[in-house]
Amino acid sequence: MKDYAVVGSGVGGSSIAALLNAKGYDVALFEKDSNLGGSSSSFKHRGYSYNTGATTLAGYEEGYVVKEIFDAMGFTPEVIETDPSIVVIQNAKITPRHKDFERFFETLNRNYPHAKNREFWKLVYDLNKEFYKYDGYYYSNANVFAKIKSLTSFLPLFLKFQKYLRGDAYGFIDNFFGGIDQEYWRFLESQILIVAQAPAKEINFLTAALSLGYAFSKNHYPVGGFGALFDAMTQNIKDVYAKSEVTKIVQREGYFELYSNGERFESKKIILNSTVYESGKLFSEADVKNYYKKYEKLDNHQSSFMLYMTIKSAKKFHHHYQIIEEELFPHTLSKALFVSFSDAMDDKIAPKGHYSVTASIHTDSRFWDDKASYKAQKKELSLILQNLILERLEIDKNEIVDSFSATSKTFGRYINRTQLGGNAISVKNFLPFLPGNDTKVKNLYNVGDTVYAAQGWPGVMLGVKNLQRLLDV
Ligand SMILES: Cc1cc2nc3c(=O)[nH]c(=O)nc-3n(C[C@H](O)[C@H](O)[C@H](O)COP(=O)(O)OP(=O)(O)OC[C@H]3O[C@@H](n4cnc5c(N)ncnc54)[C@H](O)[C@@H]3O)c2cc1C
Repeated sequence: MKDYAVVGSGVGGSSIAALLNAKGYDVALFEKDSNLGGSSSSFKHRGYSYNTGATTLAGYEEGYVVKEIFDAMGFTPEVIETDPSIVVIQNAKITPRHKDFERFFETLNRNYPHAKNREFWKLVYDLNKEFYKYDGYYYSNANVFAKIKSLTSFLPLFLKFQKYLRGDAYGFIDNFFGGIDQEYWRFLESQILIVAQAPAKEINFLTAALSLGYAFSKNHYPVGGFGALFDAMTQNIKDVYAKSEVTKIVQREGYFELYSNGERFESKKIILNSTVYESGKLFSEADVKNYYKKYEKLDNHQSSFMLYMTIKSAKKFHHHYQIIEEELFPHTLSKALFVSFSDAMDDKIAPKGHYSVTASIHTDSRFWDDKASYKAQKKELSLILQNLILERLEIDKNEIVDSFSATSKTFGRYINRTQLGGNAISVKNFLPFLPGNDTKVKNLYNVGDTVYAAQGWPGVMLGVKNLQRLLDV
């Protein structure tokens, strides 16, 4: 019998599995797909490699949670520091998001002049530096008493940042500047959306400031693609089962039974990295099913449309670009496209002289439900995005050696989820309404971007750290 069975090898699943393994527990890690990493995995297509979704390792820096958890498991990833974190292209304006405040600010203020710019961006900068200094808070959802007790641990954080937690970020920013033009709004909104996964009207200003300010912290490029990072992180776990979807979990007296590929496994504790909207399907017991059922309504159907390309080019590219347009792209929720290039020196992910390109844009998974229009929509959007990248980044069409796209449906097929980006911490969906890392079912836990704390590497790793505390390991 295993001490822990972890279902799903995303950021949350693989990290907690590697951490428990490093601490001497007997762990089994199950993954439905052939690649580890979920939304942060890599895959091969027609002989070329691609990052599936995530391309930036955020929060790997002294004093930040990703580094803290990696250190605790004794893992050092092979990464390259990325600076600028993104180059934002809007009309003729090009704004590199440099880590150094003055270097970034000089271009920002030239491109989007405003008398209150320095004060605003200094506030964003300071909130980012101060927020990550806070420690000692945790979140439990096992029962009402545990929840209330855990919420009191957030008091110092609430008190410090309370004026940025009231109201929505849109109102706060508008009021701060006393009005800004539409172009500057789109610049701010597009960057808030890629981190917070919600528009400024739905989130508080603290969340918006942490999103706008992520480029002031160190960001890293994973060498060989994120898949290589997951393979290295989990290499000491003896029982990693890829291509192993767990289809059923049964509660027994003091342990659980899991079923995968017709085999039966036993474990004392279970950690689910499946989305909180889908986890109920694994159980037949009514109390567990109902527990998860109440969270299904949190599924906002937000998702991603992806364009993958391999290009052969002698040009030098930055790691990440955001291209902001005036209008929403068809079949999407966004006016901005995020485009990531492999490093020119990284011949583990792309052959020498080639770049592996992963581009993503927000969409709604329901836009892809209609079978009759699916293919035509996919082709239309792929072409628009491809042409935009070629035009804005001055790439010749003949330089493309591979190109294809993926929708919410593709994600559903490979990694069991069509909602992507997890639960946005919005004004409505805030502590204490967030699903937790512990549950009311003894020895059953959750981890990942649909439960505490948030999405992305830092958000999910805050959840891993919380889970580590709840498990007392
Ligand atoms: C397009 C895109 C770009 C992004 N870019 C970034 C970025 O640059 N930087 C960043 O920090 N974040 C980024 N994010 C967010 C980040 O990728 C996610 O928040 C994070 O990877 C989610 O991790 P998770 O732990 O929730 O696991 P998930 O990614 O949800 O993975 C869960 C895994 O569990 C497996 N699974 C589910 N059910 C079962 C089952 N029953 N049996 C076995 N296996 C199962 C799935 O196959 C999957 O592999 C991006 C997300 C997207 C979609």
